[in-house]
Amino acid sequence: MYAVSRSPASPPVVAMIGGGQLARMTAQAAIALGQTLRVLAVRSDESAAQVTPDVVLGSHTDLEALRQVAKGATAFTFDHEHVPTEHLDALVADGVNVAPPPGALVHAQDKLLMRRRLSDLGAPVPRFAEVTSVQDAIAFSEQVGGPAVIKTVRGGYDGRGVVLAADTDEVCSVVERYLADGVAVMIEERVAMRRELAALVARSPFGQGAAWPVVETVQRDGICVTVLAPAPDLSEELGSAASELALRIASSLGVVGVLAVELFETVDGQLLVNELAMRPHNSGHWTMDGARTSQFEQHLRAVLDYPLGDTSALAPTVMGNVLGAPEIPAMSMDERVHHLFARMPDAKVHLYGKEERPGRKIGHVNIVGGPAESMTSLRERAERAAHWLSHAQWTDGWDPHA
Ligand code: ADP
Repeated sequence: MYAVSRSPASPPVVAMIGGGQLARMTAQAAIALGQTLRVLAVRSDESAAQVTPDVVLGSHTDLEALRQVAKGATAFTFDHEHVPTEHLDALVADGVNVAPPPGALVHAQDKLLMRRRLSDLGAPVPRFAEVTSVQDAIAFSEQVGGPAVIKTVRGGYDGRGVVLAADTDEVCSVVERYLADGVAVMIEERVAMRRELAALVARSPFGQGAAWPVVETVQRDGICVTVLAPAPDLSEELGSAASELALRIASSLGVVGVLAVELFETVDGQLLVNELAMRPHNSGHWTMDGARTSQFEQHLRAVLDYPLGDTSALAPTVMGNVLGAPEIPAMSMDERVHHLFARMPDAKVHLYGKEERPGRKIGHVNIVGGPAESMTSLRERAERAAHWLSHAQWTDGWDPHA
């Protein structure tokens, strides 16, 4: 139905489903390539809708809206994974270049399917089971003999839909509640971990793959707050194993675009895959300032089947997420930015144009290391900068007038 041939006269058009910050930052990368990102946003005041003139207003669950966005687009891609698979299949049948293709994307949408497929591929994952009754959950808990995690099979993000159950009683009550609401759930072992890592890669339809250095992600209440790039004290062996695993997953699943593989590093030094995301990802925000090619440019390159960019780091970098404070400060964001720049001239600020709400991701700060700065100092500064932007308070009590 739609011709996706490339016209020499006009730049390619990438259409992205979702108007959040990932689309906003992809639009920035599109500008540099002489392109204009088209987005499907629910509201005109969403992050990405504020910055691109090519906005279609509508829902990602409305096939007609999806078709409208796809019209004439060279590639059709995502800032979130919530588009129903049957709609994506319909678009593919229309001839739309869906990237990543639905057969790959479903592994970022459905955690149970993902766990099964990765097990089949021989990729290490936590022990898991499908849960269709409370009995299933009890049987799994007894078999594993340790604490368990209940997850909704679909629709979770930023820790929503993930319950770390304290004991079997809690497992039962959580499972009962979900099943009563008709929500599909699964159970898995609670991993004794040293820390969380992320291996970010990109793959093009041509089959080229590229991996950024493996990073450590720090979560609070299920939300990523800090990313350390590269992951400190990661052995070269484990780092390469993580990158190779991510590249292998990307090629086995036929991913097109950026793939984030969220990993657990267990207390005994093994890697386990937690989650897959097939789009630019919070663990890659550091690449905007700390790598030769940002994940947003790379995602465009990949979905357009351009040669991929150099993924090497310019220097160690720490990213701090700016999360809305419990109480929105009286000081304006403008003034907060002003103060931050006065104190930290090297802070790279990325704000998403979002209204402040407690816990909401409203921006991030990257601090790229100088020649001699330690990771500890970088982290302290990035977290201090991010906390300042959200709370208008310096964590060390610094007073500019003192
Ligand atoms: P989401 O879809 O919200 O990103 P995840 O599956 O990534 O959900 O889980 C969110 C967080 O919960 C993880 O980053 C991790 O901190 C914790 N978590 C998830 N699964 C496990 C597990 N099996 N063992 C221990 N912690 C887990």
